[in-house]
Amino acid sequence: MRLTRLYVDGPLASGDLLQLPATAAAHVARVLRARDGDPVVLFNGDGREYESRIETVRGTRVAVAIGAARTVDRESPVALTLMQCLPRGDRMDWIVQKATELGVTRIVPLVSRRSVVKITAGQADAKTAHWRAIAVAACEQSGRNRMPTIDAPRSLDEHLGAIGSAGTRLVFDPDAVPYAADVAWEHATAPIAIDFAVGPEGGFDPRELDGLRIAGFRGVRLGPRVLRTETAAIAALVWLQTRFGDLRDAGPAGPAARDPR
Ligand code: SAM
Repeated sequence: MRLTRLYVDGPLASGDLLQLPATAAAHVARVLRARDGDPVVLFNGDGREYESRIETVRGTRVAVAIGAARTVDRESPVALTLMQCLPRGDRMDWIVQKATELGVTRIVPLVSRRSVVKITAGQADAKTAHWRAIAVAACEQSGRNRMPTIDAPRSLDEHLGAIGSAGTRLVFDPDAVPYAADVAWEHATAPIAIDFAVGPEGGFDPRELDGLRIAGFRGVRLGPRVLRTETAAIAALVWLQTRFGDLRDAGPAGPAARDPR
């Protein structure tokens, strides 16, 4: 039986009794149908998980006895920042969920010139909170004990203006000359941070591609086909994790770390 993992937004201390917040308690009581004494793992994003036990379920009130903490690292050795131009509909939800499962470190939602989706200042906070909740659920499901950072949406120009100068930078572009597999990497060892940009349904416009190049982003192509933006985001992440991160079996920095479970 797979252990239930629950994110708690606050401090956790072994030996304490925790009343779960209403939403989490209702989920545990009604959906998971938990019983007194059931095991549960709590985490709060500090890198540790707490092997705990449900003390009491009374209606939709649930108390959990917080057990021993252990540090369990399921993070990628390379910090991967996905700069994702906002897609239509609920595709961003899908991207946030899958990218979190695959170990993304940070997601920057971007409004670009060809983005169909425009977000008003009033909508930005609600959207960001919604994506963060999706990332939390993906961490619960996938075993991550650290949450990816989900930034508030901003324009591509604004982001490039504030990005600094560190790290490897890639822009995924179906018209780029080099295929990802053919990129000549200057790194003797795996980079420790990679920022990678994925365009909206209509792609980046030429001025944006110029701006990205000036900011140090190298154009790369993922195979011979044009992918939907959400497919491209996940394919790019899988490729980067396979080349440099924790999906690789061998690479510049040697074999990937094994899960400590
Ligand atoms: N006609 C658009 C163009 O030429 O950019 C197609 C845009 S595509 C549907 C959306 C985004 O996914 C692109 O801006 C790019 O970031 C990414 N993408 C799609 N296919 C790709 C590929 N084969 N290689 C690299 N990036 C790709």
